[in-house]
Amino acid sequence: MPTFVYMTNCDGCGECVDICPSDIMHIDPTHRRAFNIEPNFCWECYSCVKACPQNAIDVRGYADFAPLGHSVRPIRDEEEATIAWKIKFRDGREKNFESPIRTTPWGSIKSASDYDAPSQEAINSQELAHEPAGLNVDELPALTPDQLKQGVV
Ligand code: SF4
Ligand code: SF4
Repeated sequence: MPTFVYMTNCDGCGECVDICPSDIMHIDPTHRRAFNIEPNFCWECYSCVKACPQNAIDVRGYADFAPLGHSVRPIRDEEEATIAWKIKFRDGREKNFESPIRTTPWGSIKSASDYDAPSQEAINSQELAHEPAGLNVDELPALTPDQLKQGVV
């Protein structure tokens, strides 16, 4: 379901423009409000939906599977660190779902620049950053040469 902006709620802050990985949230130069320039290219990642401080962005299903008149409205509550999804059916019924945005406190995750540069040994390693400690294991399973099928010579 691509995104849709309620222009009367949008204040043109640009948060959605900055976060959109597909670069399809733009600010209308005349009205100074955001809009999705190409819904077909929307990743449906909902980063913009969650980032919008005005709750101005809705997600809309394509008409072939979502009936007209419905709405899916996410409401972000930073204090509670939750996202609530309000699903409204076209017959007026509503369903509400609430889930945590994250499980760690805001600002507690270090950015990549907060870490020391990796050693050459770490760069040459096949392990990804923070492996294996980040996976809560002592070491990753690895194939030994005798487990590998030899190629045809
Ligand atoms: Fe961009 Fe994702 Fe929002 Fe689509 S849902 S407009 S890809 S940020
Ligand atoms: Fe408008 Fe929300 Fe985008 Fe800000 S983040 S420009 S309020 S739609």
